[in-house]
Amino acid sequence: MSKEGDIVEVIKSDNSKIKGILMHSHSKDSNVVKLSSGYNLAINKNKIKNITILKKLSKNKKEKIKIKHKKGLKTVAVLHTGGTIASEVDYETGAVTPRFSPEELIEMFPEIEEIINVKSRLIANISSEDMNFSHYNLLAKEIEKEVKEKVDGIIITHGTDTMHYTSAALSFILENLDIPVVLVGSQRSSDRGSTDAKINLISAARFIAETDFSEVTICMHENMEDKTCLIFPACKVRKMHTSRRDAFKTVNVKPWARVHYKDRVEILDSRFRKKENRKLKLNLFKENLKVGFLKAHPNMKADEIRMYSNFDGLVLEGYGMAGNLPINKTDKLTAENEMILNELKKLASKIPVLAVSQTIFGKINMNVYSTGRLMQEIGILGNLLDMTPETAFIKLAWLLSNHPTQVKELLSHNLRGELSIRLNETDFIE
Ligand code: ASP
Repeated sequence: MSKEGDIVEVIKSDNSKIKGILMHSHSKDSNVVKLSSGYNLAINKNKIKNITILKKLSKNKKEKIKIKHKKGLKTVAVLHTGGTIASEVDYETGAVTPRFSPEELIEMFPEIEEIINVKSRLIANISSEDMNFSHYNLLAKEIEKEVKEKVDGIIITHGTDTMHYTSAALSFILENLDIPVVLVGSQRSSDRGSTDAKINLISAARFIAETDFSEVTICMHENMEDKTCLIFPACKVRKMHTSRRDAFKTVNVKPWARVHYKDRVEILDSRFRKKENRKLKLNLFKENLKVGFLKAHPNMKADEIRMYSNFDGLVLEGYGMAGNLPINKTDKLTAENEMILNELKKLASKIPVLAVSQTIFGKINMNVYSTGRLMQEIGILGNLLDMTPETAFIKLAWLLSNHPTQVKELLSHNLRGELSIRLNETDFIE
Protein backbone atom coordinates (compact mmCIF):
# COMPACT_ATOMS: atom_id res chain seq x y z
CA MET A 1 0.00 0.00 0.00
CA SER A 2 1.55 3.32 -1.05
CA LYS A 3 1.85 6.16 1.45
CA GLU A 4 2.48 9.91 1.24
CA GLY A 5 6.14 10.55 0.56
CA ASP A 6 6.72 7.34 -1.41
CA ILE A 7 8.11 7.62 -4.92
CA VAL A 8 5.50 5.94 -7.12
CA GLU A 9 4.58 5.13 -10.69
CA VAL A 10 0.91 5.67 -11.47
CA ILE A 11 -0.45 3.68 -14.41
CA LYS A 12 -3.58 5.28 -15.80
CA SER A 13 -6.44 3.50 -17.54
CA ASP A 14 -5.10 4.66 -20.91
CA ASN A 15 -1.79 2.95 -19.93
CA SER A 16 0.11 6.24 -19.67
CA LYS A 17 2.55 6.34 -16.75
CA ILE A 18 3.29 9.14 -14.31
CA LYS A 19 6.25 9.07 -11.92
CA GLY A 20 6.57 11.22 -8.84
CA ILE A 21 6.18 11.60 -5.09
CA LEU A 22 2.80 10.76 -3.62
CA MET A 23 1.46 13.82 -1.83
CA HIS A 24 -1.39 14.56 0.54
CA SER A 25 -4.66 14.93 -1.38
CA HIS A 26 -7.43 17.20 -0.15
CA SER A 27 -10.00 15.22 -2.15
CA LYS A 28 -10.87 11.58 -1.52
CA ASP A 29 -11.54 11.19 -5.26
CA SER A 30 -8.01 11.90 -6.43
CA ASN A 31 -4.35 11.15 -5.79
CA VAL A 32 -1.78 13.91 -5.98
CA VAL A 33 1.69 13.29 -7.38
CA LYS A 34 4.57 15.76 -7.25
CA LEU A 35 6.36 15.60 -10.59
CA SER A 36 10.11 16.12 -10.97
CA SER A 37 9.33 19.58 -12.39
CA GLY A 38 8.01 20.47 -8.91
CA TYR A 39 4.39 20.75 -10.02
CA ASN A 40 1.65 18.79 -8.26
CA LEU A 41 -0.67 16.75 -10.49
CA ALA A 42 -4.08 15.59 -9.24
CA ILE A 43 -5.21 12.34 -10.89
CA ASN A 44 -8.80 11.19 -10.60
CA LYS A 45 -8.90 7.78 -8.89
CA ASN A 46 -11.36 6.50 -11.55
CA LYS A 47 -8.64 6.93 -14.12
CA ILE A 48 -5.96 5.02 -12.18
CA LYS A 49 -5.32 1.36 -13.01
CA ASN A 50 -2.43 0.74 -10.65
CA ILE A 51 0.10 2.45 -8.37
CA THR A 52 3.54 0.83 -7.97
CA ILE A 53 5.90 1.91 -5.23
CA LEU A 54 9.35 2.64 -6.63
CA LYS A 55 10.88 3.77 -3.34
CA LYS A 56 9.41 3.92 0.16
CA LEU A 57 9.75 7.13 2.17
CA SER A 58 12.54 6.28 4.57
CA LYS A 59 11.24 6.71 8.09
CA ASN A 60 14.60 6.95 9.75
CA LYS A 61 15.53 9.95 7.57
CA LYS A 62 15.04 12.25 10.55
CA GLU A 63 18.00 10.72 12.38
CA LYS A 64 19.75 13.65 14.04
CA ILE A 65 22.88 14.87 12.37
CA LYS A 66 25.66 15.82 14.80
CA ILE A 67 27.20 19.17 14.04
CA LYS A 68 30.94 19.18 14.31
CA HIS A 69 32.40 22.67 14.31
CA LYS A 70 35.76 22.48 12.60
CA LYS A 71 38.79 24.45 13.72
CA GLY A 72 40.02 26.94 11.17
CA LEU A 73 36.65 27.43 9.43
CA LYS A 74 34.82 30.73 9.71
CA THR A 75 31.58 30.78 11.72
CA VAL A 76 28.62 32.06 9.74
CA ALA A 77 25.15 32.81 11.07
CA VAL A 78 22.43 31.83 8.61
CA LEU A 79 19.34 33.93 9.35
CA HIS A 80 16.17 32.76 7.63
CA THR A 81 13.45 35.18 6.68
CA GLY A 82 11.26 32.92 4.49
CA GLY A 83 10.83 32.73 0.74
CA THR A 84 11.40 29.58 -1.24
CA ILE A 85 14.99 28.93 -0.30
CA ALA A 86 15.82 26.35 2.37
CA SER A 87 12.28 25.03 2.47
CA GLU A 88 11.15 21.48 2.01
CA VAL A 89 7.88 19.80 1.19
CA ASP A 90 6.15 18.39 4.23
CA TYR A 91 4.68 15.11 3.03
CA GLU A 92 1.99 15.09 5.70
CA THR A 93 0.44 18.37 4.63
CA GLY A 94 1.87 18.99 1.18
CA ALA A 95 2.95 22.43 2.40
CA VAL A 96 6.37 23.92 1.80
CA THR A 97 7.85 24.54 5.23
CA PRO A 98 11.09 26.23 6.17
CA ARG A 99 13.88 24.04 7.44
CA PHE A 100 16.06 26.32 9.42
CA SER A 101 17.97 24.60 12.19
CA PRO A 102 21.70 24.09 11.54
CA GLU A 103 21.12 20.32 11.51
CA GLU A 104 18.39 20.61 8.88
CA LEU A 105 20.45 22.95 6.76
CA ILE A 106 23.43 20.61 6.78
CA GLU A 107 21.16 17.68 6.03
CA MET A 108 19.89 19.51 2.95
CA PHE A 109 23.24 20.94 1.86
CA PRO A 110 25.97 18.74 3.39
CA GLU A 111 28.76 20.41 1.37
CA ILE A 112 28.36 23.58 3.42
CA GLU A 113 29.93 21.89 6.44
CA GLU A 114 33.24 21.66 4.63
CA ILE A 115 33.30 25.41 3.95
CA ILE A 116 31.96 27.15 7.07
CA ASN A 117 30.78 26.40 10.60
CA VAL A 118 27.04 27.04 10.56
CA LYS A 119 24.87 28.73 13.16
CA SER A 120 21.34 29.19 12.02
CA ARG A 121 17.92 30.40 13.11
CA LEU A 122 14.58 31.59 11.82
CA ILE A 123 13.93 35.28 12.36
CA ALA A 124 10.83 35.64 10.14
CA ASN A 125 8.81 33.43 7.87
CA ILE A 126 7.53 35.84 5.27
CA SER A 127 7.37 36.17 1.52
CA SER A 128 9.46 39.14 0.56
CA GLU A 129 6.54 40.88 -1.19
CA ASP A 130 5.02 41.35 2.29
CA MET A 131 8.02 43.08 3.80
CA ASN A 132 8.09 46.70 4.95
CA PHE A 133 10.46 49.09 6.71
CA SER A 134 9.88 47.36 10.07
CA HIS A 135 11.33 44.15 8.64
CA TYR A 136 14.48 46.00 7.60
CA ASN A 137 14.86 47.26 11.17
CA LEU A 138 14.19 43.81 12.59
CA LEU A 139 16.79 42.25 10.31
CA ALA A 140 19.35 44.91 11.17
CA LYS A 141 18.88 44.32 14.91
CA GLU A 142 19.34 40.56 14.43
CA ILE A 143 22.49 41.24 12.41
CA GLU A 144 23.77 43.46 15.23
CA LYS A 145 23.21 40.60 17.72
CA GLU A 146 25.32 38.28 15.57
CA VAL A 147 28.03 40.90 15.16
CA LYS A 148 28.19 41.16 18.97
CA GLU A 149 28.52 37.36 19.11
CA LYS A 150 31.55 37.82 16.84
CA VAL A 151 30.48 35.68 13.89
CA ASP A 152 32.67 35.98 10.79
CA GLY A 153 29.79 36.53 8.41
CA ILE A 154 26.05 36.39 7.93
CA ILE A 155 23.94 34.74 5.26
CA ILE A 156 20.32 35.87 5.04
CA THR A 157 17.95 33.61 3.18
CA HIS A 158 15.29 35.81 1.62
CA GLY A 159 12.53 35.77 -1.00
CA THR A 160 13.78 37.05 -4.32
CA ASP A 161 10.99 39.49 -5.20
CA THR A 162 12.17 42.37 -3.04
CA MET A 163 15.65 41.14 -2.17
CA HIS A 164 17.23 44.13 -3.96
CA TYR A 165 15.20 46.56 -1.84
CA THR A 166 16.36 44.76 1.31
CA SER A 167 20.00 44.71 0.20
CA ALA A 168 19.88 48.48 -0.36
CA ALA A 169 18.01 49.07 2.91
CA LEU A 170 20.53 47.06 4.95
CA SER A 171 23.44 48.85 3.28
CA PHE A 172 22.06 52.18 4.44
CA ILE A 173 21.15 51.00 7.94
CA LEU A 174 24.40 49.17 8.74
CA GLU A 175 27.04 51.86 9.13
CA ASN A 176 30.62 50.64 9.66
CA LEU A 177 29.73 47.04 8.96
CA ASP A 178 32.83 44.93 9.41
CA ILE A 179 31.67 41.49 8.28
CA PRO A 180 29.99 40.22 5.10
CA VAL A 181 26.18 40.12 5.00
CA VAL A 182 25.13 38.03 2.02
CA LEU A 183 21.52 37.79 0.91
CA VAL A 184 20.63 34.56 -0.86
CA GLY A 185 17.38 33.49 -2.47
CA SER A 186 16.21 30.89 -4.89
CA GLN A 187 13.93 31.10 -7.88
CA ARG A 188 12.98 27.40 -7.69
CA SER A 189 12.11 25.72 -4.41
CA SER A 190 14.52 23.26 -2.88
CA ASP A 191 12.33 20.24 -3.62
CA ARG A 192 12.57 20.80 -7.39
CA GLY A 193 15.25 19.16 -9.46
CA SER A 194 16.10 22.51 -11.03
CA THR A 195 16.47 24.33 -7.71
CA ASP A 196 19.14 27.01 -7.47
CA ALA A 197 19.04 27.06 -3.66
CA LYS A 198 22.01 24.79 -3.12
CA ILE A 199 24.45 26.52 -5.46
CA ASN A 200 23.44 29.99 -4.31
CA LEU A 201 23.88 29.06 -0.67
CA ILE A 202 27.15 27.18 -1.10
CA SER A 203 28.52 30.06 -3.20
CA ALA A 204 27.60 32.56 -0.48
CA ALA A 205 29.40 30.38 2.07
CA ARG A 206 32.46 30.03 -0.16
CA PHE A 207 32.59 33.77 -0.80
CA ILE A 208 32.54 34.50 2.94
CA ALA A 209 35.10 31.78 3.63
CA GLU A 210 37.59 32.90 1.02
CA THR A 211 37.50 36.71 1.10
CA ASP A 212 37.74 39.61 3.57
CA PHE A 213 34.76 41.39 1.99
CA SER A 214 32.74 43.33 4.55
CA GLU A 215 29.65 44.86 2.98
CA VAL A 216 26.10 43.84 2.16
CA THR A 217 25.67 41.86 -1.05
CA ILE A 218 23.37 39.53 -2.98
CA CYS A 219 24.66 36.18 -4.21
CA MET A 220 22.65 34.54 -7.02
CA HIS A 221 23.15 32.44 -10.16
CA GLU A 222 25.24 34.00 -12.96
CA ASN A 223 23.63 32.20 -15.91
CA MET A 224 21.59 29.15 -16.84
CA GLU A 225 24.42 26.79 -15.98
CA ASP A 226 24.79 25.42 -12.49
CA LYS A 227 28.41 26.41 -12.03
CA THR A 228 28.82 30.01 -10.93
CA CYS A 229 27.14 32.72 -8.91
CA LEU A 230 27.78 36.45 -8.91
CA ILE A 231 28.35 38.75 -5.96
CA PHE A 232 26.27 41.85 -6.66
CA PRO A 233 26.74 45.36 -5.23
CA ALA A 234 23.83 45.79 -2.82
CA CYS A 235 22.56 49.09 -4.23
CA LYS A 236 23.20 48.48 -7.95
CA VAL A 237 21.32 45.25 -8.53
CA ARG A 238 17.84 44.37 -9.67
CA LYS A 239 15.61 41.36 -10.26
CA MET A 240 15.09 41.38 -14.04
CA HIS A 241 13.28 38.14 -14.78
CA THR A 242 10.23 36.49 -13.26
CA SER A 243 11.52 32.93 -13.28
CA ARG A 244 15.08 32.50 -14.59
CA ARG A 245 17.64 31.47 -12.03
CA ASP A 246 19.95 34.23 -13.29
CA ALA A 247 17.25 36.87 -12.75
CA PHE A 248 19.52 39.31 -10.90
CA LYS A 249 21.63 41.74 -12.92
CA THR A 250 23.81 44.69 -12.00
CA VAL A 251 22.84 48.15 -13.23
CA ASN A 252 25.52 50.57 -14.51
CA VAL A 253 28.35 48.64 -12.80
CA LYS A 254 30.03 45.24 -12.90
CA PRO A 255 29.51 42.59 -10.21
CA TRP A 256 32.16 42.35 -7.50
CA ALA A 257 32.99 38.70 -7.87
CA ARG A 258 32.20 35.39 -9.51
CA VAL A 259 32.02 32.33 -7.28
CA HIS A 260 32.81 28.98 -8.85
CA TYR A 261 30.78 27.19 -6.26
CA LYS A 262 32.85 24.01 -6.24
CA ASP A 263 36.26 25.50 -5.71
CA ARG A 264 37.12 29.19 -5.98
CA VAL A 265 36.29 32.89 -5.97
CA GLU A 266 37.24 35.15 -8.86
CA ILE A 267 37.31 38.87 -7.99
CA LEU A 268 35.92 41.04 -10.82
CA ASP A 269 36.07 44.44 -9.14
CA SER A 270 38.03 44.70 -5.91
CA ARG A 271 36.75 48.15 -4.89
CA PHE A 272 34.65 46.72 -2.06
CA ARG A 273 35.21 47.41 1.62
CA LYS A 274 37.51 44.99 3.44
CA LYS A 275 37.63 44.02 7.11
CA GLU A 276 39.37 46.51 9.42
CA ASN A 277 37.89 46.67 12.91
CA ARG A 278 34.99 49.07 12.62
CA LYS A 279 32.20 49.43 15.16
CA LEU A 280 28.75 48.80 13.79
CA LYS A 281 26.14 51.53 14.14
CA LEU A 282 22.48 51.11 13.14
CA ASN A 283 20.62 53.95 11.41
CA LEU A 284 17.11 52.54 11.34
CA PHE A 285 14.11 53.40 9.17
CA LYS A 286 11.27 55.47 10.60
CA GLU A 287 8.54 52.85 10.50
CA ASN A 288 5.55 55.16 10.09
CA LEU A 289 7.04 57.00 7.13
CA LYS A 290 4.92 57.33 3.98
CA VAL A 291 6.98 57.32 0.80
CA GLY A 292 5.24 56.84 -2.55
CA PHE A 293 6.46 55.32 -5.78
CA LEU A 294 4.66 56.33 -8.96
CA LYS A 295 5.31 55.38 -12.57
CA ALA A 296 4.64 57.95 -15.28
CA HIS A 297 2.48 56.59 -18.07
CA PRO A 298 0.57 57.86 -21.10
CA ASN A 299 -2.78 59.40 -20.18
CA MET A 300 -1.57 60.24 -16.68
CA LYS A 301 -3.92 62.29 -14.48
CA ALA A 302 -3.23 65.11 -12.03
CA ASP A 303 -5.27 63.17 -9.44
CA GLU A 304 -2.52 60.60 -9.28
CA ILE A 305 -0.08 63.23 -8.02
CA ARG A 306 -2.68 64.72 -5.65
CA MET A 307 -2.90 61.35 -3.90
CA TYR A 308 0.50 61.94 -2.35
CA SER A 309 -0.30 65.26 -0.70
CA ASN A 310 -0.04 63.78 2.81
CA PHE A 311 3.07 61.70 2.09
CA ASP A 312 6.60 62.39 3.29
CA GLY A 313 8.28 61.80 -0.07
CA LEU A 314 7.67 60.54 -3.59
CA VAL A 315 9.77 58.75 -6.21
CA LEU A 316 8.53 59.38 -9.73
CA GLU A 317 9.60 56.92 -12.38
CA GLY A 318 9.59 59.07 -15.50
CA TYR A 319 10.69 58.36 -19.04
CA GLY A 320 14.05 58.41 -20.78
CA MET A 321 16.98 60.70 -20.18
CA ALA A 322 15.54 63.15 -17.66
CA GLY A 323 12.96 60.87 -16.08
CA ASN A 324 10.65 62.99 -18.22
CA LEU A 325 7.12 63.60 -16.96
CA PRO A 326 4.00 64.57 -18.94
CA ILE A 327 4.02 68.25 -17.93
CA ASN A 328 3.90 70.12 -21.27
CA LYS A 329 0.70 71.56 -22.68
CA THR A 330 1.70 71.36 -26.31
CA ASP A 331 -1.67 71.10 -28.08
CA LYS A 332 -5.36 71.08 -27.27
CA LEU A 333 -5.22 67.40 -26.33
CA THR A 334 -2.69 67.94 -23.54
CA ALA A 335 -4.59 70.19 -21.11
CA GLU A 336 -4.27 67.62 -18.32
CA ASN A 337 -0.47 67.97 -18.45
CA GLU A 338 -0.72 71.55 -17.23
CA MET A 339 -2.69 70.32 -14.21
CA ILE A 340 -0.07 67.64 -13.58
CA LEU A 341 2.58 70.36 -13.65
CA ASN A 342 0.65 72.46 -11.12
CA GLU A 343 0.13 69.50 -8.79
CA LEU A 344 3.80 68.58 -9.00
CA LYS A 345 4.83 72.17 -8.29
CA LYS A 346 2.67 72.17 -5.13
CA LEU A 347 3.90 68.75 -4.03
CA ALA A 348 7.59 69.42 -4.66
CA SER A 349 7.39 72.59 -2.55
CA LYS A 350 6.14 70.48 0.40
CA ILE A 351 7.98 67.13 0.18
CA PRO A 352 11.01 65.76 -1.70
CA VAL A 353 9.96 64.49 -5.13
CA LEU A 354 12.71 62.45 -6.75
CA ALA A 355 12.79 61.53 -10.45
CA VAL A 356 14.28 58.28 -11.73
CA SER A 357 14.11 56.74 -15.17
CA GLN A 358 12.08 53.82 -16.44
CA THR A 359 14.99 52.95 -18.71
CA ILE A 360 16.79 51.64 -15.58
CA PHE A 361 20.29 51.93 -17.12
CA GLY A 362 22.19 55.21 -17.59
CA LYS A 363 21.86 58.40 -15.54
CA ILE A 364 19.28 61.14 -15.29
CA ASN A 365 20.18 64.32 -17.13
CA MET A 366 17.64 67.12 -16.73
CA ASN A 367 19.84 69.74 -18.38
CA VAL A 368 19.42 68.67 -21.98
CA TYR A 369 15.73 68.98 -22.88
CA SER A 370 13.19 71.63 -21.88
CA THR A 371 11.04 69.12 -19.94
CA GLY A 372 13.99 68.31 -17.70
CA ARG A 373 14.75 71.99 -17.16
CA LEU A 374 11.13 72.64 -16.22
CA MET A 375 11.25 69.72 -13.79
CA GLN A 376 14.29 71.25 -12.10
CA GLU A 377 12.58 74.65 -11.95
CA ILE A 378 9.62 73.24 -10.01
CA GLY A 379 11.97 71.54 -7.57
CA ILE A 380 12.07 67.94 -8.74
CA LEU A 381 15.24 66.25 -7.51
CA GLY A 382 17.47 63.60 -9.05
CA ASN A 383 19.45 65.44 -11.73
CA LEU A 384 22.69 63.68 -12.74
CA LEU A 385 22.05 60.66 -10.48
CA ASP A 386 22.09 57.06 -11.65
CA MET A 387 20.24 55.15 -8.97
CA THR A 388 17.97 52.23 -9.76
CA PRO A 389 14.36 53.18 -9.02
CA GLU A 390 14.29 50.73 -6.09
CA THR A 391 17.49 52.03 -4.52
CA ALA A 392 16.27 55.61 -5.02
CA PHE A 393 13.09 54.73 -3.13
CA ILE A 394 15.05 53.13 -0.28
CA LYS A 395 17.57 55.97 -0.11
CA LEU A 396 14.86 58.63 -0.03
CA ALA A 397 13.03 56.80 2.79
CA TRP A 398 16.27 56.30 4.70
CA LEU A 399 17.29 59.95 4.34
CA LEU A 400 13.85 61.08 5.48
CA SER A 401 14.26 58.76 8.49
CA ASN A 402 17.79 59.77 9.44
CA HIS A 403 18.68 63.12 7.83
CA PRO A 404 15.34 64.86 7.18
CA THR A 405 16.86 68.32 6.85
CA GLN A 406 19.59 67.26 4.41
CA VAL A 407 17.64 65.13 1.95
CA LYS A 408 18.35 67.28 -1.09
CA GLU A 409 22.06 67.60 -0.40
CA LEU A 410 22.69 63.95 0.57
CA LEU A 411 20.78 62.50 -2.38
CA SER A 412 23.71 63.35 -4.59
CA HIS A 413 26.38 62.10 -2.16
CA ASN A 414 27.49 58.55 -2.80
CA LEU A 415 26.88 57.06 0.66
CA ARG A 416 26.80 53.30 0.05
CA GLY A 417 27.84 52.76 -3.56
CA GLU A 418 24.36 53.67 -4.80
CA LEU A 419 25.79 56.16 -7.32
CA SER A 420 28.36 55.22 -9.94
CA ILE A 421 31.65 56.99 -9.52
CA ARG A 422 32.33 56.84 -13.22
CA LEU A 423 29.55 55.73 -15.53
CA ASN A 424 30.56 53.66 -18.55
CA GLU A 425 28.21 53.27 -21.46
CA THR A 426 29.70 49.79 -21.83
CA ASP A 427 28.12 48.71 -18.53
CA PHE A 428 24.87 47.40 -19.97
CA ILE A 429 23.12 44.03 -20.02
CA GLU A 430 25.33 41.49 -21.79
N1 ASP B 1 7.44 35.60 -3.76
C1 ASP B 1 8.62 34.97 -3.21
C2 ASP B 1 9.35 35.99 -2.37
O1 ASP B 1 9.96 36.90 -2.87
C3 ASP B 1 9.48 34.44 -4.27
C4 ASP B 1 10.75 33.83 -3.75
O2 ASP B 1 10.82 33.32 -2.65
O3 ASP B 1 11.73 33.89 -4.46
O4 ASP B 1 9.34 35.86 -1.21
